[in-house]
Amino acid sequence: MSLLTTKLPHVGTTIFSIMSKLAVENGAINLSQGFPDFPIDGKLIELVDNAMNAGHNQYAPMPGLPKLLDALVDKVERLYKTKYDPASEITITAGGTQAIFTAIAATVHPGDEVIIVDPAYDCYAPTVTLFGGVPIHVRLGSDMKIDADAVQAAITPRTRMLMINTPHNPAGTILRDADMKRVVEMLRDTSIILLSDEVYEHLVFDGELHASAINYPELRERAFVVFSFGKVFHTTGWKMGYVLAPKELMTEFRKVHQFNVFSVNTPMQHALAEYLKEPLHYEQVPAFYQAKRDRFLSGLRRTEFKPLSCEGSYFQVADYSAISDLPDVEFAKWLATEKGVAGIPLSPFYRDPPKDQRLIRFCFAKQDATLDAAIEKLCAI
Ligand code: GLN
Repeated sequence: MSLLTTKLPHVGTTIFSIMSKLAVENGAINLSQGFPDFPIDGKLIELVDNAMNAGHNQYAPMPGLPKLLDALVDKVERLYKTKYDPASEITITAGGTQAIFTAIAATVHPGDEVIIVDPAYDCYAPTVTLFGGVPIHVRLGSDMKIDADAVQAAITPRTRMLMINTPHNPAGTILRDADMKRVVEMLRDTSIILLSDEVYEHLVFDGELHASAINYPELRERAFVVFSFGKVFHTTGWKMGYVLAPKELMTEFRKVHQFNVFSVNTPMQHALAEYLKEPLHYEQVPAFYQAKRDRFLSGLRRTEFKPLSCEGSYFQVADYSAISDLPDVEFAKWLATEKGVAGIPLSPFYRDPPKDQRLIRFCFAKQDATLDAAIEKLCAI
């Protein structure tokens, strides 16, 4: 007799774990799971070291260290000209995924519908399901941009939440002012909560500005906006992020947060509070990653892969239909095991993957030498 009934019958191991493992086992260049392969700033390590040596090794306050909350409120005001209250509208989380999980846990009731735009980051739908919500999947347009009409058409009286993501993982596209204005219109006069996943906030290229939900007062008043330190400061292993929301939403968020995490590690919070005092530390990020995108993209153009447009994030999607007819998961496994380069197939990001889509995602948050070596291998195919 089985001890349990699974709550997530359709969920296995994440594609990120599968592909990273395959990369390690086969000695492949790992452009799959999104994480930098270069060292973080020594200053940050020194700041953590200082904090530990100064005795900051016990629990931080549940919502976060006051000086980090203040530093983030200042950063948000500087970038988006909007003031959040550090006491009631911001919480430090154990990464973006935990922020998303907790926001859903705190607000989605059984039977509530949550609109998810596929391809969607893989944690969204299972988390909704776990709390009895009903994921309603719509698709990005074929250009990998949001199809506002499709999203609008999915709204019903049972819609509790809309999840958006910009810059987009895995697509690498961004939402622009006109897209956000459509979101404002479709949510007006509803009680739908917006969950805006903006963890790649600083990875927006070609001089474009990040169109944050924060910038739109009608969205700000109904939104959880999720951010990540890992993506900005190359510290994905620290698992640290933060979430902004108006007081009414944040009160509910913290009720859940206090019982599944309580608080996030203290020395890192001290270090980040100090590090954020120098805006250059995040202002230099777009140019840094744009150079990597350009390097990888120009290499990719010498291969049989056809790159899609990458406007933001550290992911470059490429069409491999000139190389192979294999479905994408099989292609990604073949590429890692036989050709020595690991990427992420796109189909796991869909409820119903488009049948003949032949797309793979490569992460370019890598040293130039890693990118060059990968291109060399891809050119040889
Ligand atoms: N965000 C990372 C990516 O998209 C993966 C993080 C994880 O493995 N959970 O590749």
